[in-house]
Amino acid sequence: MESQVERRRERLVCRNPLTGAELADVPVMGRDEVRALVAAAREAQTAWAGRSLPERARALDRLRRSLAARAVEIAEVIRSETGKVHGEALSEVAVACDNLAYLKRAAPSFLLGRRASTAWLLHRRARVTYEPYGVIGVITPWNYPFAISMSAVGTALAAGNAVVLKPSEYTHLTGELVASIIKEVIGLEGLVGLATGDGRTGAALIEAGVDKIAFTGSTATGRKIMAAAAESLTPVVLELGGKDAMIVCADADVERAARGAVWAAFYGCGQVCMSVERAYVVESVYDDFVAAAVAEARRVRTSDEPEAMVGSLVAAFQLDKVKAHLQDAQSKGARVLLGGRGIAGAGYFFEPTVIVDVDHSMDLMREETFGPVLPIMRVADEEEAVRLANDSTFGLDASVWSRDRAKARRIADRLEVGTALINDHLINYAIPDLPFGGARCSGFGRVHGLEGLREFARPKSWVEDRLAPRREMHWFEEGGSGEERVRALLNLRHGDGLSTRVRAAWRLLLSLRR
Ligand code: NDP
Repeated sequence: MESQVERRRERLVCRNPLTGAELADVPVMGRDEVRALVAAAREAQTAWAGRSLPERARALDRLRRSLAARAVEIAEVIRSETGKVHGEALSEVAVACDNLAYLKRAAPSFLLGRRASTAWLLHRRARVTYEPYGVIGVITPWNYPFAISMSAVGTALAAGNAVVLKPSEYTHLTGELVASIIKEVIGLEGLVGLATGDGRTGAALIEAGVDKIAFTGSTATGRKIMAAAAESLTPVVLELGGKDAMIVCADADVERAARGAVWAAFYGCGQVCMSVERAYVVESVYDDFVAAAVAEARRVRTSDEPEAMVGSLVAAFQLDKVKAHLQDAQSKGARVLLGGRGIAGAGYFFEPTVIVDVDHSMDLMREETFGPVLPIMRVADEEEAVRLANDSTFGLDASVWSRDRAKARRIADRLEVGTALINDHLINYAIPDLPFGGARCSGFGRVHGLEGLREFARPKSWVEDRLAPRREMHWFEEGGSGEERVRALLNLRHGDGLSTRVRAAWRLLLSLRR
């Protein structure tokens, strides 16, 4: 099969991974075109930010209703570009709708601003407001092209920003759909611009004068983004790769844990940033867990039928990476118990694979595989499991499986990750009130929740007068640095004992009368 994306001069041809059919032929936008998009977005932003918070929230709610009404059509486009099964493609729309519903409810209060206390300046008033940054550059990957783009763009809009969206070269049509539906519903020309192209276009967006970058993608690209953004000190949110661990304790419900592991390892063909990519199973339940996982994995139907459980990998490069990781692991002693091969025919299908006798010398346990592979490692006890789970450059999510939730929480507390789950995995992204993001090389900054909303709003602090005396005690006083007053004030507020404070108050009063 031809490469899914081929380059024709400065245009990209995007193909359906299931059929090889040409889907789109789009220009690779260069610096000038991207700058023009940013300029148009900046103009639209003024009008958009001029709308009140409740007005913006209502617009996002209309957007939610429009997505829900067009969910099947959107899911078809997602499937055509990614090879996902219907259920998974549709769940992207559901997640996006839930997030918009959350934004409608939460944004007006979260972004309303707050009063601040004024310390010793009792005759002052202080507050914080949350201002839009201006234009946000949103750069997204191919694996959840709709949910991730809509989530970042929707949140940026809620905070009063405009956006230029650069979708992955594999998922132009989905990106186009995000921009066009928003245009239809909100109607402001240029509010969400679409930068078509490849990595060069993404790089151009960073140099185009945007006010913040929200990037979701691999750790390798995240490093480049941060380096490029450092030139202009453009702030960045980086949502990067993962290598999620699950820990199965001796007292886990083993059958349930095995079913959960198979789902979380193979859902999305394993191409989810928080897929289970490592299972650490305590010795006493290891054999039962492995047997249950293999039995469950046999049930997983992978094919090009829309109603299969698992669809295609997105492109040949993903297939090659999965094969390379398995080959490396097998050459170092790992044993494949199920699967392990590509599936012949159109598309980039790979058998659901369960592999054991793995260790941390293997790429499979250290690098992001992003394929339908469940590596299971035997550990002596939970202590060893925690050590191995933390032995990773990544820190996105991790889960602990145990019947004793208090114990599971204590274990999860020691895992250096952005999200800890007990007796489930993956599902946190579907909870829009929960901030989502990583630790370590999985990135920083958050999407979703209060913290995610505030990523797109710059806090602005205000101080104003309640009373305006002719002179202020902190202004220059005649003939000195004001040391006496500062000392008196310091002792008044922080001095040890009542008598020190009373003396300090008296001195302060005297100094003010002078
Ligand atoms: P990439 O890092 O390859 O690409 C992500 C985006 O960045 C694409 O739009 C890409 O464009 C663009 N890009 C590439 N090079 C540059 C550059 N130099 N400057 C600016 N933009 C650039 O990631 P993938 O698309 O392969 O996505 C998979 C990765 O995303 C995995 O590592 C996965 O874990 C991670 N991910 C993380 C999530 C999270 O929330 N933490 C969620 C989902 C995925 P183009 O594709 O056109 O080259």
